[in-house]
Amino acid sequence: MSKATVTGSCLCGAVVFHAEFPTLFCCHCHCSMCRRNHGAAYVTWFRVSNERFEIDQGQDVLVRHASSDHGARQFCGQCGSSLFCENSKHPDHIDVVLANMEGPIDKAPQFHAYWNNRADWTEVGDTLPRLNEDTDD
Ligand SMILES: [Zn+2]
Ligand SMILES: [Zn+2]
Repeated sequence: MSKATVTGSCLCGAVVFHAEFPTLFCCHCHCSMCRRNHGAAYVTWFRVSNERFEIDQGQDVLVRHASSDHGARQFCGQCGSSLFCENSKHPDHIDVVLANMEGPIDKAPQFHAYWNNRADWTEVGDTLPRLNEDTDD
């Protein structure tokens, strides 16, 4: 039986990874760390359990930056693509940047997180729920 998976990679292609469905959720994050880390208005992530996620190539060029006391972000040391976010509050899951995937995942974005922290220079026109906290707890 073949498993439903999606492959992703960084901009330079050094880091390649894949995730197996089902993912846990998908959301747009408006927190200031995501904004700065990506140079973008907000970042779309999906969460998947560790056992459904694997790095196929490029582990040696991955760089980990502790962005808070419980979170760490991983990026490609060659091209700088932001790739993953780990959180010690949910160590069994990993957050993956949707934009780096080469195909669709099993769900569309479901909500906005950290809505109150959003950049006031961007406008969002969808009707998704707008939450003011992450789902970390
Ligand atoms: Zn890269
Ligand atoms: Zn964020």
